[in-house]
Amino acid sequence: MIKIALLGSTGSIGRQVLNTVARHSDKFEIVSMAAHSSAELFSKQINEFKPKIACLTDSLSATRLTEIPTGTTLYTGEKAMLHAITEDCDIVMAAVSGFAGMEPVLEAINLGKDVALANKETLVAGGNIVMKAVREKGVRLIPVDSEHSAIFQCLNFDLNAKFKKLILTASGGAFRNFTKQEVASLKAQEALKHPNWLMGKKITIDCATLLNKGLEVIEACHLYNAPLSKVEAIVHPESIIHSMVEFDDGAVMAQLGFPSMEIPIQLALTYPERLKTDVPLLELAGKSLTFGRIDEDKYPCFGLALKSFEMGDNYACAMNAANEAAVGLYLEDKISFYGISDLIEHVLGKIERVEVTKESLLYTDRLAREMVYQKVGNKN
Ligand code: NDP
Ligand code: MG
Repeated sequence: MIKIALLGSTGSIGRQVLNTVARHSDKFEIVSMAAHSSAELFSKQINEFKPKIACLTDSLSATRLTEIPTGTTLYTGEKAMLHAITEDCDIVMAAVSGFAGMEPVLEAINLGKDVALANKETLVAGGNIVMKAVREKGVRLIPVDSEHSAIFQCLNFDLNAKFKKLILTASGGAFRNFTKQEVASLKAQEALKHPNWLMGKKITIDCATLLNKGLEVIEACHLYNAPLSKVEAIVHPESIIHSMVEFDDGAVMAQLGFPSMEIPIQLALTYPERLKTDVPLLELAGKSLTFGRIDEDKYPCFGLALKSFEMGDNYACAMNAANEAAVGLYLEDKISFYGISDLIEHVLGKIERVEVTKESLLYTDRLAREMVYQKVGNKN
């Protein structure tokens, strides 16, 4: 039995983790569960999975929780999620969205727990301290993001394997068939219509701006200990090849499959063993696979993400925070599509360089968000 602590149970990834657990209830058990504000769904989930520990970080939403099953202890409030990392769990599934995932992930690693990581923002903002903690504690940090899972599979589940280049594929997001001029006036409602994947709102906007691919390049650099020069991203609109690895002899390995997160989620929990999923099988006959370059003029967020990583120290953390705040404003129709990249650029030009510690990252994250709200005159 694999005992799972699930952080972010109410989200798109969290719900798919629970599908996986329900499908193989003889193999998996949810020992703890945490979410933020979706009280009604969280109530249903804890009554179905009956975890020992349940945590809702938004105290106001917690007042809407209905029945708590006997045998379940409830924690609420900002730091409640830390209670979900129980002594008896085998693995922590980090499926929270955004920088809010970093502290619990660090806590899990420091407690010696293996972590299955969907929450890419943790590695983008805190990659150096997270990977250092992983090495010091000797725990596994297992990729869940489909591209990084694909690479993991191509490398035979060896995070330290030798390679020449990692090639991440990008669907191109919701705006791939629009011109730069058209994109400039498109609203969040349009960006939320992702052609191939059904995901949370924040990551769906990140896909439309291609910032998501920038985050994933940084995530790959940290996970696979690679410099930027060894990680490439290409557009592959069909989302059938989830990523590739090129080796020294010129051979390229690719992982293909129907675009569903249930494969990487389940594999992160069971590898090298593969169990059944309900994912449709891939029908390749009659299909074409196409590839293209990222248009960095149309998608400035991609280049800004890479630039922040090159700048080093706390700059990727600042970029991530600026993006989270800007995406929130775009979702509320308070800024335009290119307002997101403008705000990231603004913050990168203004934020002070500091040496990376957990505390300095928390400070950078807060400051970068404030800079965004100040710039647009919004007091959020
Ligand atoms: P969702 O927005 O669907 O879900 C986010 C989850 O995080 C919810 O459970 C939410 O709780 C919780 N949460 C949000 N804010 C906070 C907070 N401040 N403190 C604690 N918990 C919080 O996101 P996704 O499931 O789409 O994405 C989760 C992560 O996985 C992201 O980092 C994303 O980049 C990554 N990822 C997602 C993929 C996908 O297919 N969805 C693919 C690859 C990576 P509540 O709803 O209760 O408020
Ligand atoms: Mg991905």
